[in-house]
Amino acid sequence: MPDAIHVRLDALASPPPTAAARDSAAADELRAAWRARPNGRTFYLETFGCQMNVHDSEKVAGVLFARGYRQVDAPDDADLVLYNTCSIREKAAQKVFSRLGQVRGVARDGKVIGVLGCVAQQEGEQIFERAPWVRLVCGSASYRRLPELVAQLEAGDTRVTGLELDTDETFETDFTRRDNPFRAYLTIIEGCDKACAYCVVPMTRGPERSRTSESILREVRGLVELGYTEVQLLGQNVNSYRDPSPARLDFAELLEAVAEVPGVRRVRFTTSHPRDFTPAIVRAIERQPALCDHVHLPVQSGSSRVLAAMRRDYSREEYLERVAWVHRARRPISLTTDIIVGFPGETERDFEDTLSLLDLVQYDGAFSFKFSPRPNTAALRMPDDVPEEEKGRRLAILQERQREIQQARNERLVGQRLEVLVEGRSRPGQWAGRTSSNRMVNFTSPEPPALGEYREVVIHRAGPNSLVGEAVI
Ligand code: SF4
Repeated sequence: MPDAIHVRLDALASPPPTAAARDSAAADELRAAWRARPNGRTFYLETFGCQMNVHDSEKVAGVLFARGYRQVDAPDDADLVLYNTCSIREKAAQKVFSRLGQVRGVARDGKVIGVLGCVAQQEGEQIFERAPWVRLVCGSASYRRLPELVAQLEAGDTRVTGLELDTDETFETDFTRRDNPFRAYLTIIEGCDKACAYCVVPMTRGPERSRTSESILREVRGLVELGYTEVQLLGQNVNSYRDPSPARLDFAELLEAVAEVPGVRRVRFTTSHPRDFTPAIVRAIERQPALCDHVHLPVQSGSSRVLAAMRRDYSREEYLERVAWVHRARRPISLTTDIIVGFPGETERDFEDTLSLLDLVQYDGAFSFKFSPRPNTAALRMPDDVPEEEKGRRLAILQERQREIQQARNERLVGQRLEVLVEGRSRPGQWAGRTSSNRMVNFTSPEPPALGEYREVVIHRAGPNSLVGEAVI
C-alpha cells in the first residue's frame, strides 16, 4: 500500500491554511494529483447516518476524484449519483428508497445510480427488484473494490455489485477527500464482532478488522503536514482495536502514540464499547494532554435485565465500574452516551433504572431513541410489546431529565476559561468552536479569530447544549 494522499476540499481549491502545510510535499502532490486527470465526468454523493459513513464517503469521494471525477451538488448535474446509506433505524432506510424514487427520471437519462453502505449490504440484489434503475450496489465491506466496480460501469456493464462480507481487509485508499477542514476522521477498525440484539451492523459491515498501527500513524503524520491539529479515530467499537502488525499496540497504546505525533493537538475517539473499555484508556487520557477530555460510552439501558436481553455483554454494575474509572481521573473527563427506550420487555421498573443511571453518571450529553425493530436482528423475533405512545412518553421523560442534568453541569463552567478550536461563525460578530470536552461554545472576541486557531474563552452563560463566552486576548 503506498502512502495515502489526503485530499481536502480547501486544499484542492486553495493552498492549505498553515505555512508548513502550504510548503509540504504532500500538499504539492495532492494538487498535482487533482489537476492531472480530469475526465469530464461528475458525481453526486449523499450520506446518511453516522460518522463512520461520513468518513467512508470522504474516501469514496477520494476514489472518484482520483479517477478524474468532479463533485456536483445536484443529482440532475451528475453522471454518477450515489447514496451512502444507513439502516440502523427504519426511517433512515426508508429515506433511501424515497430518494431512489426521486431519481428514477434522472436514471432514464443514462446516469448511473448507486447504493452504497448498510442498506446496500442488507438488501443486496433485492434493491435491483425494488428500484430496477439502480446499477451499482456496494456494501461498506467491499469498498476496496470500488475502483474496479466504477471501471466496470464506465466500460458499460449494466449492473455491478460488491456484497462480500467475509473479508479481513479495511478500506484504505490512496486518496481521501476531507470535508471538515478542522477535524480529520480516520477509521482504525471496521466491522463488529459483537451481536447486540437490536443492531444490524454485524450483518452490514462484516467482522472486526483493524488497520496496522504503522498505517494509522503514517496517516496521522500526513494529516499534520496538511495543517490538521485535531484527529478523530473511528470504529464501530473503536476500543476493540487490535494491531495486526508485529508492534501489537493495544488501543490505549495506540492513543498515546497518536497523541505523541508532533503537531497533533487534539485526539478524539468514538465509539467505545463498555465491555472493552479499560483503566489503561483513562490512564492514557490522564498522561497525554492531546487526548481530549471526552469519552462516548453508549450504555443503551440502565437495567441489567434489559442489557442482558439486548446482549450487550455487561451489566449495570459493570458499566458503573467503568464510569467510576472515568470519574476518578486526575482531570475532568466528560461522558456522553446512547440510550434506547422501549426495548422489547422493558418495564416501567427497567425504565426507572435507566433514569436513576442518568442521575448517577451525570452525562454531559445523550443521544436517545425509541426502539424500532430492524431486519435480520435477534430483537425482530421478540414481541415489540411497549406501545408506541408509551415509548414516546418514556423518551420525553428521559430527554427532559437529561436536559436538566446538562444545564446544571454546564452552569458549573460559568466563569471558567476553556480552550476552544474556532470552527466557524454562529452569527454576525460571534464565533463558534468546541472545547476538548466536546462542548459547543459561541463567543465574541475583541479581535476576530482565525478559523482553525485555538482561543481561550471565558464562559459567561450556559444552556443545556452550548456555552456562551468571550475570547480572552
Ligand atoms: S457493538 Fe452492538 S450496537 Fe455496536 S455495532 Fe456492534 S452490534 Fe451494533
